[in-house]
Amino acid sequence: MAYYGSIEAGGTKFVCAVADENLTILDRVSLPTTLPEETLAKVFDFFDAYQLRALGVGSFGPIDVNETSDTYGYITSTPKQGWQNVDFLGKLRQHYNIPMAWTTDVNAAAYGEMHLGAGKNTQSCIYLTVGTGVGGGAVVNGHVLQGFSHPEMGHIPMERYPKDTLISSCPFHDHCLEGLAAGPALEKRTGIKGQLLEQTHDVWEIEAYYLAQALMSYTLTLSPEKIILGGGVMKQTQLFPKIRESLKKQLGGYVSLPNLDEYVVGCELGDNSGTLGCLLLAKEQGV
Ligand code: ADP
Ligand code: ZN
Repeated sequence: MAYYGSIEAGGTKFVCAVADENLTILDRVSLPTTLPEETLAKVFDFFDAYQLRALGVGSFGPIDVNETSDTYGYITSTPKQGWQNVDFLGKLRQHYNIPMAWTTDVNAAAYGEMHLGAGKNTQSCIYLTVGTGVGGGAVVNGHVLQGFSHPEMGHIPMERYPKDTLISSCPFHDHCLEGLAAGPALEKRTGIKGQLLEQTHDVWEIEAYYLAQALMSYTLTLSPEKIILGGGVMKQTQLFPKIRESLKKQLGGYVSLPNLDEYVVGCELGDNSGTLGCLLLAKEQGV
């Protein structure tokens, strides 16, 4: 039996899983993200029980995905204590001499959703998570999108909603999507955590406006077949029709979009998109 491993490395937890050739998950564990040596020791404890063929890693970032770079496989300038400039992939390779796929957590989720979830039957789609931050991954013509680095779709600049003076929650940018529309921005706007806000609150109009503005940019630059939205904030399902409506309005009729109900959709794999994406990428290592 061939086993494939997956590591979905997040800033608060690492989800590790083992699956068989059919990508049926046989075992999984969620480990708190503490310091690298400590967390990795637990990761090794988990996987050492299996003879893995390949491993897929989807990591929080920023990470170095450029194979020609000296720091390929590193987590680079993350604010996460203890994880700056850590040779994450290198440490995994020291322990396991098997093929490994390496990408961002959101690229892995995009890949999982495209093959097995909301993006089935497409070749190009975007996955955006709106939670503590905003992160986006893209699959273009069947491949996860990476260039000199990986996309950082949460940090594109926004034109502000009329009279919106909210101080951005992003320490780097005065008016990026994450700074104005992630969970912490919602809370700052209203004084209430997103999950406790009324569905009829006015803030959802502003939220939908910013998300739609971002979706317009992704649409115009990448022309995906589908945009898949996930993360805690997107549990507010009333956002979907508002986003679609605002997207249509902001595009001003310039591009004729696919049916919007099928173009802007929720994720289908829930907590499994990243894990399944990593497993698929592991399996595709060709062994
Ligand atoms: P993370 O991004 O840390 O992986 P989440 O996707 O759950 O985790 O995002 C957490 C953020 O999303 C918090 O700011 C929280 O207030 C907000 N959030 C979580 N659930 C909801 C919800 N049902 N409605 C609105 N906001 C939510
Ligand atoms: Zn930013």
